[in-house]
Amino acid sequence: MLALAGIPLGFRFRFLEPGPDPPVRDLGEVVRGDYDDPDSLRTFGKGLELATYEFENVPAAALERLTDEIPVFPPPSILALTQDRLREKEALGRLDIATADHLPVRERGELDQALNRLGVPAVLKTRRFGYDGKGQRVIRSPGGLDAAWSELGGRPLVLEAFVPFRRELSLIAVRDRAGGIVCYPLIENRHEGGILLLSRAPAEAVPADLQDQAEALVTRILEDQEYVGALAVEFFETDDGLLVNEVAPRVHNSGHWTQDGAVCSQFENHLRAIADLPLGKSEARGSSAMVNLIGKLPDPARILALPGTHLHLYGKAPRPGRKLGHVNVTGADAGQVDQRLAAVLSEIGLGEEREEGGQATQRSQRP
Ligand code: AMP
Repeated sequence: MLALAGIPLGFRFRFLEPGPDPPVRDLGEVVRGDYDDPDSLRTFGKGLELATYEFENVPAAALERLTDEIPVFPPPSILALTQDRLREKEALGRLDIATADHLPVRERGELDQALNRLGVPAVLKTRRFGYDGKGQRVIRSPGGLDAAWSELGGRPLVLEAFVPFRRELSLIAVRDRAGGIVCYPLIENRHEGGILLLSRAPAEAVPADLQDQAEALVTRILEDQEYVGALAVEFFETDDGLLVNEVAPRVHNSGHWTQDGAVCSQFENHLRAIADLPLGKSEARGSSAMVNLIGKLPDPARILALPGTHLHLYGKAPRPGRKLGHVNVTGADAGQVDQRLAAVLSEIGLGEEREEGGQATQRSQRP
C-alpha cells in the first residue's frame, strides 16, 4: 500500500521479503532473503536513497545495520522499544503517559504474585512477537493460571490488568524531517479475538479536548523519539481518560480508511515525511469505515455493487485468521456510512444476527 501510494509521486521501490510469492511481486524489485541476513541486507540497500519498514517484527538490529549504508525511517531505535511490551510501557511511563497496570513475569511463581497484585481479569502477554491477538491470553479466574502458563510460559511475559474500557480508539500522526506534525482524527476500533475487525473515522462523540489530549500524548512520543514517518497509538478510552495500549511505529491497519476517506492517506504522508516533502492534509473527507477481510474473501462484484465501497485486496492466499484485504466504506456523514457498512457486513457474513450471537465481544454501540 505504501508502494501504491508512492508510485504516482515518482518513487520506485525495492522490497526485502523472506517469503515466496509476496503481495508486492508486481510493484517493484523484490530481494528475497531473511531480514537479518547480512548479504540480503547489502543487496537490498545497494543504491537505495532510503529505507522504511511497515512490519513490526523486522529485527531492529537488521535495521540498525542498514543505517550504516542508507538512512532508515522511522528511527530503528523506536522499533527496539515497541518490540518489547515491557520496555514500551516503561518508556511511556518516563514520558508520563498512562498505560494499564502491569508487572513483568519470568517464572511461574511470579505469575501467581502478579495475579494477586493485579487481580482478575488480567491479560497475560508475551513481551515480544505478539500481534493480532497472538501471544496473549485473558485470565478470568485464578483457575485459569495453569492453562495460560502452559500456553505462554517459558518466554518473557507481562501481566496486564484488564482495562474495562468504554471503547478502543487510535490516533495516527505523521512527523516530517523538519519536525512538522499532522494528526488524523481519532479512529474508533473494534477487535474480535484480538484482531482488528472494524474501524470508524472520525470516531463519533469525540469532544475537542479528547482529540487534543490524544494529539498531545502522541506529539510527546514523536518528539521524544525524534521520529520521522507515520506512527499509530492505540488507546483505551476509560472513565478516567485515555490509557495507551500500544504504539506502532508504522502505517497502521486502523488508518487504512485514509486511502479513500482523507485528503492525503497515511501511506502517502508517510512517504512524504521520510522523503523530506511537504506533508498533505490529514482531514477526513466525510465519514468512513474500514472492514478487514479475515480468513476468506467475499465475491468482489457483490461488494463493489454496494454504494460507497472501495475494495483493497492484498493478493495473499486465504488462511484462517489472515488479513487478506479490506473494504473501505465512505459517505457524507456517519448515518450514511452506518447504512452502507451494515450492507457490507451482511455481505461478508458479519451482519447483525452474528453480532447478537455474542461473537463480537469488544465493540461499541455501532454495527
Ligand atoms: P494488543 O495486541 O495488546 O493490542 O491486544 C489486542 C486487543 O486485545 C486489544 O485491542 C484489546 O481489544 C484487547 N486487550 C489487550 N490488552 C487488554 C487489556 N489490558 N485490557 C482489556 N483488553 C485488552
